[in-house]
Amino acid sequence: MFASLSDRITQALSSLRGKGRLSDADIAASIGEIRRALLDADVALPVVRDFTATVRERAEQAELSKVLNPAQQIVKIVHEELTRILGGHTRDLRFAKRGPTVYLLAGLQGAGKTTLAGKLGKWLREQGHTPLLVAADLQRPNAVQQLQIVGDGAGVAVWAPEPGNGVGNPVEVARTGVQHARDAFYDVVVVDTAGRLGVDAEMMQQAADIRDAVDPQEILFVIDAMIGQDAVTTANAFAEGVGFTGVVLSKLDGDARGGAALSVASITGVPVMFASTGEKVGDFERFHADRMASRILD
Ligand code: GDP
Repeated sequence: MFASLSDRITQALSSLRGKGRLSDADIAASIGEIRRALLDADVALPVVRDFTATVRERAEQAELSKVLNPAQQIVKIVHEELTRILGGHTRDLRFAKRGPTVYLLAGLQGAGKTTLAGKLGKWLREQGHTPLLVAADLQRPNAVQQLQIVGDGAGVAVWAPEPGNGVGNPVEVARTGVQHARDAFYDVVVVDTAGRLGVDAEMMQQAADIRDAVDPQEILFVIDAMIGQDAVTTANAFAEGVGFTGVVLSKLDGDARGGAALSVASITGVPVMFASTGEKVGDFERFHADRMASRILD
């Protein structure tokens, strides 16, 4: 991910490096090249506009044509602004003051929610928590079984619908799952929900009903970083239909151009909290906007 974007931005900036003094035209040419690189990487237009306008303004204010090491200054500005559009400072997950903490996973089918449930479960376990995964995706035929396999791999217990605890009713499965966590002293509940291939009103309502039933501390919107330009429409639809407090970018190990990854935090104003980087339970990390910006500028 980001390979081509990273090459082009680095190149645009390194063309400034050899020069002792920079003219306004040099700076404008570099910013123009960065702008084109972002657009070619499928970064959403409003994000590109905001980014380039701010970099241009800051470059003007810094009076780069007068400072001693202008190239370094502009690299710093670009780094800071990339960090900003990627969501800025990383915040910690919220935990309930009393009773089990609930995290709800939302996103399209195939986004990587079930896989993420296992990764998050393992990560929470390693942080000293006792998580429970709840299989409230009753839409996809194998989703419950998949979560059970994922939970086994992660060493995390799974609450699956059985006769008497809400077969066929995802809201009931989620509600009884949280009740079970309370009774059996699990301190964090991760609720997997159903997705559809496209944004769908019924699915959105179901996720909203589960949200209302379990009152989560975090709603994590999982988005496949490979979906390109559709990222913005999908993120906006979920923001409106369910609402979310954190973004998880999945499939960052792919070779997509990275635009979705770069747009979602900025468009929705919700920070990216985790990155999923493969199919295995350990392919998962906290997302740090500044480190991602450094990777792009490397
Ligand atoms: P869900 O429908 O949202 O629950 O999505 P799944 O968790 O079932 O994931 C859909 C597919 O994407 C599965 O084949 C996963 O193995 C794969 N997948 C999930 N996360 C990642 C990731 O970070 N990288 C890669 N390469 N594949 C992933």
